[in-house]
Amino acid sequence: MIIVTNDEGRPGVGRTAALLAKGASRLDAIEAGIRLVEADPAIRTVGRGGLANMVGRVQLDAMIMDGDTLESGAVGAIEGFAHAITIARAVKDRLPHELLVGAGAERFAREVGAELADNLTDASAEIWQDWLEATVPIADRARWQDSAALAPYVRNAIKADLLPSDDDITAPVDDDRPQGADTTVFLAIDHTGALGCGVSTSGWAWKYPGRLGDSPIVGAGAYADSRYGAAACTGTGEMAIRAGTSRSIVLYLKMGLALNEAVDAAIDDLRGLKGGLIDRITIHAIDAAGASRVVAVNAQQDRQFWQWRDGEAKPQRIQAERVDL
Ligand code: ASP
Repeated sequence: MIIVTNDEGRPGVGRTAALLAKGASRLDAIEAGIRLVEADPAIRTVGRGGLANMVGRVQLDAMIMDGDTLESGAVGAIEGFAHAITIARAVKDRLPHELLVGAGAERFAREVGAELADNLTDASAEIWQDWLEATVPIADRARWQDSAALAPYVRNAIKADLLPSDDDITAPVDDDRPQGADTTVFLAIDHTGALGCGVSTSGWAWKYPGRLGDSPIVGAGAYADSRYGAAACTGTGEMAIRAGTSRSIVLYLKMGLALNEAVDAAIDDLRGLKGGLIDRITIHAIDAAGASRVVAVNAQQDRQFWQWRDGEAKPQRIQAERVDL
């Protein structure tokens, strides 16, 4: 048995480990752990307390996948619910679909009695308001919620100097902005040897409304196949979507590469991306035998992850490898 989660997973990793140790299934253990991360307002990139999108609303994405059946469930751009991971699980368990977004996903969440929540905490609302006032001239602020063009400003959500140049970009880049992008990812092997993965996020702060990152996209944000391994990404979802990073790692394992080689091959695929948003991304991977590897690509600072194996008293916090593209 093993659980690997990123640093944001710290409120939930102990619970997931305890459940796995007691014989819970991978998905029950993952969902329970992620629910604790979603409920913790100190984790600014997942669930309650997550940072807002450009128009000041917290939109959540989540996904869960069973490595035995390859069934998944995911939701994207949902507002007003406490536990996106549980709604994603309900998509998997109750619908003949893999991914619901927006109003339809919210309708389904109400239908299954999902817990309601106002995820925009006062602290997050204040950070958004500060960003708006520092970034958007008053004329645009007056029509911000309906007709203002948001595209020129969305570049402030990310590193403008890494985007294609565009003379229309007039908004200044706020280098002191909160690091509002992260996610929680959980990879697990349960007592039966089966694999699973789960992801939950509020995505990039100041993202364009309706933007989905990699997190709810099976094969991009996460993928699990009990025969070979599982992988999940945090960071620049646009890169994981373009490279199909999580699915690629599992496919490289299927092709006979060792875990280290499979992750290296996926990093090489990221190196091959020549256009679009290129920024930091962290890859988390395990193979079916329980080996693990976590690599922070293009990270500005050291990144940690949490790991627990059966027999260990408690989860360990471990430094990820670093690689620059
Ligand atoms: N991968 C997430 C997204 O693109 C954000 C992050 O993990 O930093 O929405």
